[in-house]
Amino acid sequence: MAGDRADWAVELHGVHRRYGRGRTAVHALRGIDLTLRPGTFTAVMGPSGSGKSTFLQCAAGLDRPTTGTVRLGGTEITGMKENKLTALRRTRLGFVFQAFNLLPSLTVEQNVVLPMRLAGHRPDRRRTAEVLAQVGLSDKARRRPAQLSGGQQQRVAIARALVTRPDVVFADEPTGALDTTTAAEILSLLRQAVDTLPHARTTSRGGTPMATVVMVTHDPSAAAWADRVLFLADGEIVDHLDRGTPAQIADRMTALTAPHAFTQAAA
Ligand code: ADP
Repeated sequence: MAGDRADWAVELHGVHRRYGRGRTAVHALRGIDLTLRPGTFTAVMGPSGSGKSTFLQCAAGLDRPTTGTVRLGGTEITGMKENKLTALRRTRLGFVFQAFNLLPSLTVEQNVVLPMRLAGHRPDRRRTAEVLAQVGLSDKARRRPAQLSGGQQQRVAIARALVTRPDVVFADEPTGALDTTTAAEILSLLRQAVDTLPHARTTSRGGTPMATVVMVTHDPSAAAWADRVLFLADGEIVDHLDRGTPAQIADRMTALTAPHAFTQAAA
């Protein structure tokens, strides 16, 4: 639908996710309200078990909230049928995981065009070449993942995530398996995608929104590449920090993990 762009790339309203029932129920998310503008880079941090993975899964339509609503690019995905949701994920979302998740039997180029193929579209060779150039892998198109370094494999994953010009790219610990220098290269590519990626569709106001990135990380240096860091504790967003330095972000994390820092979360 050309010309029909939402003001928000991501919207969560009153999102709860409970695992199990009764006395043994785990409340992984306890009412998340969040709106993210197109062209923003958001990092999500929090202690282990605070709900980061559940948040990402619910926001990306990989899991369904127990209650609450999720909208992506203005489309409500809560209650959407699984096949429609799968189609939306393939065409309008990109994913980058810690373990790269490339298919070993396919070449770099074939891995990158996979989302297009799965969505039933003809692979767009020009677009593929463009994203491979964007991540600095033009000369590796015919290689297989095993012939590449970890950092190069993650670049392939980023190219694959960007190839369809998605509304939102969800990244789950994308630098978790990489050394510091390589991690910085990967994060600068995500930053660049937010700052420069022209969107396939234009807004009703004629602008060209950029990619929107939501990244879960436990690394303050990685989170510092984001515009805003959200801090989760016990399934709630308890704090945020805009344009924080790694040291400032690390301090907030320390405060979060300190005993009794958020007694209200236990209520
Ligand atoms: P994080 O990613 O911050 O470590 P998670 O979202 O994985 O946190 O988990 C949040 C809470 O939900 C934890 O208490 C975890 O044990 C629980 N949890 C996560 N997934 C499941 C599941 N499939 N079944 C039961 N409990 C779960």
